[in-house]
Amino acid sequence: MASPTYKRILLKLSGEVLMGNQPYGIDLDTVGRLADEVLAVAATGVQLALVIGGGNIFRGLAGAAKGMDRVSADHMGIMATVMNALAMQGVLTRKGMDARVLSAIAMPTVCETYSRAKGIHHLEAGRVIICAAGTGLPFFTTDTGAALRAAELGCDALFKGTSVDGVYSADPKTDPSARRFDRITFGEILSKDLRIMDPAAIALARDNGIPVVVFSIRKPGAVLEVVNGGGLFTTVT
Ligand code: UDP
Repeated sequence: MASPTYKRILLKLSGEVLMGNQPYGIDLDTVGRLADEVLAVAATGVQLALVIGGGNIFRGLAGAAKGMDRVSADHMGIMATVMNALAMQGVLTRKGMDARVLSAIAMPTVCETYSRAKGIHHLEAGRVIICAAGTGLPFFTTDTGAALRAAELGCDALFKGTSVDGVYSADPKTDPSARRFDRITFGEILSKDLRIMDPAAIALARDNGIPVVVFSIRKPGAVLEVVNGGGLFTTVT
């Protein structure tokens, strides 16, 4: 396996990954396993920024569908991402890694407020940063927040851990003829409507030349393996 070619990466995990086998919320054993994956990558010297979604706790669209004001519902989703980030920070710290939550919404008694300068400072000091609260704005997603932070922080790639090991021509869970792409362009993702991330996130990554690496987070050791160029994944460029 080759040694990592990346200096700095952004790892995006959906909130649902933190549920483990639970139907809702945060399973701390699962957070522990994910933290070990993060530590394995950090130990190679690659600088690591994390973005964790909030879908394991609350999604704005689900609240709006039940009659909530969309903006308030999105604010709840944003708070959910902060809860997940704090859980990850706590577990990483317990395991000996200096990790900092940087929130797009100021909550100074809870965590630091995100700024690019602070993020880069922590990364260069060897700390893992967890960029919480998405973009800080309603009507966006944490995928867009991840692409935005990857662009701001000068990340070499955005690694998106999903439940499948790459981008397929159709849903591999329902269509046996589905084919996995090793490489695909952002243009093809949009024209084929493959929906690996929302269009705003795709546009940000494309316009800023940030490759998106889609891989399965379910396989233990997958993050380090994929960062090292091994295992199964799709690179979107
Ligand atoms: N959210 C938002 N703005 C952002 C990021 C997130 O309003 O920039 C809200 C939105 O309601 C979303 C929720 O936070 O549904 C959780 O984020 P997301 O759905 O992206 O989480 P994931 O699917 O990755 O777990």
